[in-house]
Amino acid sequence: MKDYMYFPRNILEAVKPLPDEDRLAVYDAFINYAFDGTVPDDDANTCAKIAFSFYRQAIEKLNDQREKRRQTPEYRHFRKAVLERDGRRCQVCGQIKKVMHVHHIKRFADYPDLQTDIDNGITVCPECHRRIHHG
Ligand SMILES: [Zn+2]
Ligand SMILES: [Zn+2]
Repeated sequence: MKDYMYFPRNILEAVKPLPDEDRLAVYDAFINYAFDGTVPDDDANTCAKIAFSFYRQAIEKLNDQREKRRQTPEYRHFRKAVLERDGRRCQVCGQIKKVMHVHHIKRFADYPDLQTDIDNGITVCPECHRRIHHG
């Protein structure tokens, strides 16, 4: 299970005009992948297969960028500062778990300038983090 879910806006826009059945199949394909890496099989809805190939490319590109970003001293400092400020406590449910996430209030992908802005980070546990992104 990945710790976040990102639906690229341009892809969401592109699937909007599809009939409900196809559009929902597309969303399902994205969600399944985000949860456990499941990819649509050969029998899957055609729209879902096409949209998914774009989605996966976008996600892989984003993951590379995030990975690079996370390895900078700036980013490590950001993460540490947010966790310290929040006392490593989930700011949603109040729990402290072994692994804590730092969530970007304004989306990482959409606000490059705020990626290491401490005011844009919030400490959350993995469960609450999942809920934030999955609604
Ligand atoms: Zn929590
Ligand atoms: Zn997040």
